Amino acid sequence: MSYKETTAGVPDRAAFEQTEASRRLHCDRCGREVVRLALREDRLVVSSPLRRLRLDAQDLGRDPLALLMASRPALHEAMLRAHQDGLDFYCPGCDAMLCEAHYRCIPQWDEGFYDHTLGVCPEGHERILDD
Ligand SMILES: [Zn+2]
Ligand SMILES: [Zn+2]
Repeated sequence: MSYKETTAGVPDRAAFEQTEASRRLHCDRCGREVVRLALREDRLVVSSPLRRLRLDAQDLGRDPLALLMASRPALHEAMLRAHQDGLDFYCPGCDAMLCEAHYRCIPQWDEGFYDHTLGVCPEGHERILDD
């Protein structure tokens, strides 16, 4: 089973700094670190200031070890297949990683409960970052 912790649309750098990292992805605009990838107990751990995911091979449809070093579009596709909205802070329209200073994160609420976060890149491309 895959597993997720979310910050409900509010970027949390303090929690993010505590997460494990075998590989780090950075904002293409300012170089700030924005995603960490690691393996734990045969799962791919994907951490960002918005959430932390543990994804197993069955949900990913691929070996987590292979995905650890995969390209950003390949990671995005695998995370879509795992029903995890795609790679955090990645805009597929621009093929760009963007930090929370360069990617607007807009939490969406439904009757008082956090529902998902909408991301808007500087070019105006929108996607769901965390549902
Ligand atoms: Zn874009
Ligand atoms: Zn940035």
